[in-house]
Amino acid sequence: MKKILFAFFISYSALAQMQPFTLQEVRITEGPFKNAQDVDMQYILELEPDRLLAPYLIDAGFPTKQDRYGNWESIGLDGHIAGHYLSALAMLYASTDEPELKSRLDYMLSELERCQNKNGNGYVGGIPQGKIFWERIHKGDIDGSGFGLNNTWVPLYNIHKLFAGLYDAYYYTGSEQAKNILVKLGDWFVELIAPLSDEQIQSILRTEHGGIAESFADLYTLTGKDIYLQTAKKLTHKNFFEPLLNKEDKLTGMHANTQIPKVIGYEKVAELTDNKDWNEAVKLFWHNIVDTRSVAFGGNSVAEHFNPVDDFSSMVKSNQGPESCNSYNMLRLTKELYFNNNDVSYLDFYERTLYNHILSTQHPEKGGFVYFTPIRPNHYRVYSQPSTSMWCCVGSGLENHTKYGELIYSHNENDVFMNLFIPSTLNWEEKGIQLTQNTKFPYEDQSEIVLNLKKKKAFAINIRQPKWAGYFEVLVNGKVQNIQAKSSSYATISRTWKSGDKILVRFKTSTRLENLPDDSNWVAYVNGPIVLAAKTSTEDLDGLFADDSRMGHAAHGKMIPLDEAYALVGDKDSYLSKAKEIGNLRFRLDSLELQPFFEVHDARYQMYFQTYSPQEYIEKQELLKQQEMEALALEAITIDKVSCGEQQVEVGHNYEGEKSNSGYDEGKFWRNTRAYISYQLSNNNLEGKFLDITVLDELKLDNVEITVNNKPAEIISAENKTIKIGVTDKEVVKVKITSTNERPTPRFYELRIIKE
Ligand SMILES: [Zn+2]
Repeated sequence: MKKILFAFFISYSALAQMQPFTLQEVRITEGPFKNAQDVDMQYILELEPDRLLAPYLIDAGFPTKQDRYGNWESIGLDGHIAGHYLSALAMLYASTDEPELKSRLDYMLSELERCQNKNGNGYVGGIPQGKIFWERIHKGDIDGSGFGLNNTWVPLYNIHKLFAGLYDAYYYTGSEQAKNILVKLGDWFVELIAPLSDEQIQSILRTEHGGIAESFADLYTLTGKDIYLQTAKKLTHKNFFEPLLNKEDKLTGMHANTQIPKVIGYEKVAELTDNKDWNEAVKLFWHNIVDTRSVAFGGNSVAEHFNPVDDFSSMVKSNQGPESCNSYNMLRLTKELYFNNNDVSYLDFYERTLYNHILSTQHPEKGGFVYFTPIRPNHYRVYSQPSTSMWCCVGSGLENHTKYGELIYSHNENDVFMNLFIPSTLNWEEKGIQLTQNTKFPYEDQSEIVLNLKKKKAFAINIRQPKWAGYFEVLVNGKVQNIQAKSSSYATISRTWKSGDKILVRFKTSTRLENLPDDSNWVAYVNGPIVLAAKTSTEDLDGLFADDSRMGHAAHGKMIPLDEAYALVGDKDSYLSKAKEIGNLRFRLDSLELQPFFEVHDARYQMYFQTYSPQEYIEKQELLKQQEMEALALEAITIDKVSCGEQQVEVGHNYEGEKSNSGYDEGKFWRNTRAYISYQLSNNNLEGKFLDITVLDELKLDNVEITVNNKPAEIISAENKTIKIGVTDKEVVKVKITSTNERPTPRFYELRIIKE
């Protein structure tokens, strides 16, 4: 495959000299990343294109060839995986040249084109009742909140996946067909929103919309047509972006993965329009996430939302730690910033997150992708299966392991930059430069590069000296070089190279402790860029390979009380030396064995440890035990619950509503309404006796009507911010809360069915 057109790189080359190599130019040769790529290929090939395409055929009015998939592919987000699938096929084909991937990609594209032609107006999509839905939007009939737009589950997020997939199919494989479908789809969208006022567009943008702005920035780069750039700008979500432009941090409580892809779009627009203020706001966002909201392995958020920067306790307690999609998008943003700023320091975060989060989110033998990575001690993670699991993190997971070659190397006009220590080959055909990198890193502290040149050639090889490298030297053909590098920079070796020249990079990693960003007493062991964790048990791994249930992506097995977790007790300077190295990146920690977290699968694990002086230990453990007992006791009598305003839980409980606002205050999510909201809860085996509905505000019910299964609720009591309702005889509990006078109801916090 020839190198794809330079036109794509306008945004990189206009301001900065650094450019990416294409995936075709780099091959991963061995090691855990190569394994991950192979395992992902199996998973990709197990998915059935006709099942992924079914929602598109249904919407276009064609008979389907196979049934659509279940799970998220048939409860509103129909068609989202097909978009990711296009991206994954295109990138993995570019990375491997496997012909089956290309023929699948071509098949997907021709079916999508068939649907687009049938629809006749440029539209193609899998969103249920798409035609009716978009017609309402076109007419300005818009009611949006966090994830429901006119009671459809994140439709712009969904269609953005298709935009991105088509773009990737063109970018990575040069498919003209993909470009044609994409441009028509883009033109349809431009027409769709043409009659809408800025205010109406802003109300659409209240609902999660993925990277729709990025897609229009990409369309502009692709075609040079100004209307696309104008559309990208119009799709800037002001309520979110203006505080960043004003250097304010309003992120706490926001749905995390809703925000990150927006910012990727704003960065692209900033580059295209040379807007320094926007560049600064994007950098501010990146630093905010990386420096104050990310844990050791690079992930962020709890139950999909940003927690307060000074309090990570909710994340420590939750079985829903950082979501994989967030890191997928943070790496995409980091890559943009690295090239746009020519700044190698961005790669420290990229490398950290690549090894510890991204690589770790795929089962290395059986395949399957992880959604949440809890930091709760002694909890575990669950994996998707090709036939049952259609989550967002499956979509991004399909892509994650197809493009490990994207940043191992980069280049400017004449010189090579080596960024990551991953065994691989580079073939820069245009310059007649080939090289092979041999390394077992992170299991050894060195990497060797062997050059293969058509003829002698003068150029520079720049080798990244990572932030974590305590000592760093470069030898050329056995001779130590006098290099002037420092941490987070490049060591440059300029000379006339000949075929067979060998470069040996030697460095030193050491182990250190890293606190959570809130500076509480939780620490993780980190060696070089590698986060360590201990397997603690292989018992009670409920739902390890997920079924098709709505919340199958969360590890819902029993939680081990926090006070039973291993803690570091003693003087501050004793914690690090407690871990004794036993080789191969393994460390003995009393009865535990630490190992790279990316190796930890099929097990409960501990990554974070609490530290105590002996006196603190006695005091704090008692308190922790008490709190744990109360929290776990409430969970034990809970049959079902909904936290109002939290996306997955609400969708899982058939949320519907109109004129509803949701938010996050006083450390809690909430939702109110000026019309109605409703949820459906399950009271399995009639075990539950009461439904408790809690509010954040004063409990004023003068404009509130509550029905259960369409009948007035039997309210037992309403005090202390809790409404207690009897549900003894109902297996399905459909709760509807209505405002009787179109004024806002109190802010509802939680609905919980309990046994006693
Ligand atoms: Zn996800």
